[in-house]
Amino acid sequence: MAQIEINEARIRAEFGELARIDSESFGEREMADRLKERLAELGIQAKEDDTAEKIGGNAGNLFGTLKGGLSGTPILLSGHMDTVAPGIGKKPVFHEDGTITSDGTTVLGADDLTGVIAILEGIRAVQEAEIPHRDIEILFAAAEEPFTRGSSEFDFSQMKAKESYVLDVTGPVGTAILQAPTILSFEAAVKGRAAHAGFEPEKGIHAIQTATRAIAALKLGHVDEETTLNVGLISGGSVVNAVPELCTCRGEIRSYSH
Ligand SMILES: [Zn+2]
Repeated sequence: MAQIEINEARIRAEFGELARIDSESFGEREMADRLKERLAELGIQAKEDDTAEKIGGNAGNLFGTLKGGLSGTPILLSGHMDTVAPGIGKKPVFHEDGTITSDGTTVLGADDLTGVIAILEGIRAVQEAEIPHRDIEILFAAAEEPFTRGSSEFDFSQMKAKESYVLDVTGPVGTAILQAPTILSFEAAVKGRAAHAGFEPEKGIHAIQTATRAIAALKLGHVDEETTLNVGLISGGSVVNAVPELCTCRGEIRSYSH
């Protein structure tokens, strides 16, 4: 089988070029246009959906398919086009030791340009080595940083892939995140009844004692294999000589099962 050669100089040049494009969330127009050109060079006619108007941005999600010679369900490669702020006027600095940083006034935009470029270069390298592959679907999302606003509007019914690599995380090469928990935070308020703690405490209902009894009865930590529960904050009472009327607690639940 032919050897795949990743062209490092080409990656660095492409990063330098694309990182200079302003592409904050909801402002990915120029990046989307440039990526359409890049995908076209690879033989992918990417379509842009109508997400821009739905989310108040200026670019939609790009989706396209690269035909391969092999049969089988396509694989999806995905990344996002937007960066966090401050991301206007980015100037990547190439250091002698090989690292690339911003000039300190903006973000670098490596999130998620490194993922986008890895996808482009990976496909290029496979094509240059003339290695047969399955169909490859590409999704470059708009407005990922503000809680995946862009891909939330994407019509996934047009996608044939059942497995995907989303190149958008730091960590050692070769590792992947397989799942992420849902997080629910909660606040509970226990309302009792205030009373003077010395003269008539039996007329009060002790909010702090009630709340702490409830917390003591909870199973905290790992509730089951995929769920954790924590109460992290508690506050209540107002003065030392009164039965406290109110106690509030805040906590969170994390689980792989929403
Ligand atoms: Zn990202």
